[in-house]
Amino acid sequence: MNKRIFSGTQPTGNLHLGNYLGALKNWVELQHEYESFFCIVNLHALTIPQDPKLLLEKTRDLARVYLAVGIDPQISTIFIQSDVPEHTELTWVLNCVARVSELERMTQYKDKAKKQQENVNVGLLEYPVLMASDILLYHTDLVPVGHDQKQHLELTRDIAIRFNRDYGETFKVPDAFIPKMGARIMSLSDPLKKMSKSDDDPNGRILLMDDADAVQRKFKRAVTDSGTEIRFDPSRPAIHNLLEIYHLITGKSQPEVEEHFAGKGYAQLKGDPADVTIEFMRPVQRRVKEITDERLDQLLEQGRDKASKIAGATLATVYQRIGITR
Ligand code: ATP
Ligand code: MG
Repeated sequence: MNKRIFSGTQPTGNLHLGNYLGALKNWVELQHEYESFFCIVNLHALTIPQDPKLLLEKTRDLARVYLAVGIDPQISTIFIQSDVPEHTELTWVLNCVARVSELERMTQYKDKAKKQQENVNVGLLEYPVLMASDILLYHTDLVPVGHDQKQHLELTRDIAIRFNRDYGETFKVPDAFIPKMGARIMSLSDPLKKMSKSDDDPNGRILLMDDADAVQRKFKRAVTDSGTEIRFDPSRPAIHNLLEIYHLITGKSQPEVEEHFAGKGYAQLKGDPADVTIEFMRPVQRRVKEITDERLDQLLEQGRDKASKIAGATLATVYQRIGITR
């Protein structure tokens, strides 16, 4: 049997360059080697306040973006999390395996809870358990994600190992796939914070759907570091981030990138990444517009059916192991 990958993104806003370079770019490459499941995790999105109408729209928009960046529905399965109710059913079982103390230690929980103190809902704490269910239902081998999800992946492994120990071998224990470059693209306005959909400052993120003017403007106002030399230096995170974006989009090696910028100034350090980003995004934006509603419905239905079969079988085994019939 082919090895499997599973990954997802939340329809909490439009995807940004960080999501693409940290996750989707690798999905596109890995889909040729692995049996692939790419989910739109709309249930996860409920952990932060959502406008119902917008959530519905963004869920479908996200499926369009998956296709437009190069996920091939002939070889990969794209589906919506809420279309496969086994995800929530397994979550309940795994709730009884995960510990509150380990969930409270998650840095994403702590960060997001701080940001929405009026609404620290149970779902926010539960987020990694739902994520563990997503992954474990498909006997996933590899989970290509950005660096911020590393801790959640470790928890997923712990939950799987604990369940297997207590109830017998049931789940595959998955590995994270976190790329060396691109796993943590930083905000253009604050290079110490990751680029994020839910950040209050829209200037820190380049959205895949941004028009050329917006891309130019956001790169232009990107903060930089002191010093003049333009090279990959981790102690100068703003410059490193701009070079990293340029390196990943052009496919040029790091020495080639440093050579390209040798002797040049900050205007070019901001202008060149903007130019290559615009060029990269043009066909993606065109393809997003070309996907009809009918085609999307058909693909999502197909995805749901394929995912449901596997998820249903896994959940049946889990129920059997724990002494529940249905
Ligand atoms: P939110 O702020 O709503 O949590 P997000 O930008 O973190 O949104 P997610 O949908 O939570 O996006 O994450 C989707 C994928 O993108 C995950 O694999 C995550 O690790 C990856 N990712 C998110 N932000 C970055 C980033 N700045 N750099 C690289 N990868 C990222
Ligand atoms: Mg996130």
